[in-house]
Amino acid sequence: MTDLIARAEALDSADPLAEYRSQFLAPDDFDVVSYLDGNSLGRPLIATAALMEEFIREQWAGRLIRGWTDSWMEWPIRLGDRLGSVALGAAADQVVIGDSTTVLLYKLARAAVDSSPSRKRVILDTDNFPTDRYVLEGIAAEKGLELVWIATDPAAGIQPDQVAAVVDERTALVLFSHVAYRSGWLADVAEINRIAHDAGALSMWDLCHSAGSVPIHLDAWGVDLAVGCTYKYLNGGPGAPAFAYLRKGLQTTLRQPIQGWMGHRASFEMGPGYEPSAGSRALLSGTPPILGMVPLHANLDMLAAAGIEAVRAKSLLLTSYVLDLADEWLAPFGVEVAGPRDPARRGGHVTLRKPGFEALLDPLWDAGVIPDYRRPDGLRIGPAPLSTGFGEVARGLSTLRDLLEK
Ligand SMILES: *Cc1c(COP(=O)(O)O)cnc(C)c1O
Repeated sequence: MTDLIARAEALDSADPLAEYRSQFLAPDDFDVVSYLDGNSLGRPLIATAALMEEFIREQWAGRLIRGWTDSWMEWPIRLGDRLGSVALGAAADQVVIGDSTTVLLYKLARAAVDSSPSRKRVILDTDNFPTDRYVLEGIAAEKGLELVWIATDPAAGIQPDQVAAVVDERTALVLFSHVAYRSGWLADVAEINRIAHDAGALSMWDLCHSAGSVPIHLDAWGVDLAVGCTYKYLNGGPGAPAFAYLRKGLQTTLRQPIQGWMGHRASFEMGPGYEPSAGSRALLSGTPPILGMVPLHANLDMLAAAGIEAVRAKSLLLTSYVLDLADEWLAPFGVEVAGPRDPARRGGHVTLRKPGFEALLDPLWDAGVIPDYRRPDGLRIGPAPLSTGFGEVARGLSTLRDLLEK
């Protein structure tokens, strides 16, 4: 036990990203001793609080409607480009910020299936995040499509050979998560894309659990469409707007179905008939959520300074430390690791499993330890690399061990 605590101290003092932890906001009476749910809601930056205040006073109050032409109209595109270059491996004019992940999933998946009307199948997996499954069920009903479900192991995730076994000339689209929300499985995106493309299908990826935590190379991997949220590892705040990626080469052939004035070629001409804008702007529909985009400026500055590769390196050290603590401290109480141990297949969080975990949630919260719980018996440990220290992880899991001991 002391060995593992000594290791936390050593890892914290050798951590090249340690200084970033002091850039996160904590109230004076902060009652949290271990925040292990950065994969559900990232913590706010001190800079974000200042930016919000400044935005309201100077831009909203000071500029009023002039703010739209000053710069707000460009935010969805400019911030999308920045996110693309800092975290997504996407060249300019392919990413926009706006709507929620759920709505963007609908818009992009509809655009994809509409582009190949003779293909009547969409492939997805049984353990994808609920919203992905529900949205595709709705689109299938709307369009008379068949959903082909791959049964994925909830403790692992989607494998290329599972995709190869079902994809064919009837497939319009395959949709998976880059990092599985339960197990933390990291999919082989490039290989799965290659398999989909060989059959003439489009590929779409949900990046909610990887953006800001795992390096992403959308252009190099040949991704066609992608969506993700900004309130998890990107620290955008509760309900922060999501992002969508549509590969350049598809922008003239794919049309998203919610044709609003903000995706129009000339929003303020207010003319008859919808004509999509060129480039990524055509992914927009209504007035962009500018207020919700303010925090992203600070978060992307921080991520750009830290570097996504360094973030990933620390993330792997954090999750490997979690695995060691789980093996030594928790396994004796019947706790299992329900996810990949292989660093090449492991995303940014670790899921622990034990029947009865649900009853420990209240005492953990009372002790200031905040993990995430997923039915039926999973505790997700998601240490966000920029805001979490190794000692903090040790404090959280030692509290869990003490509760299991009782
Ligand atoms: C968090 C998450 C979402 C959330 O979608 P919202 O529309 O923001 O509620 C979607 N997909 C995955 C994989 C997620 O982890």
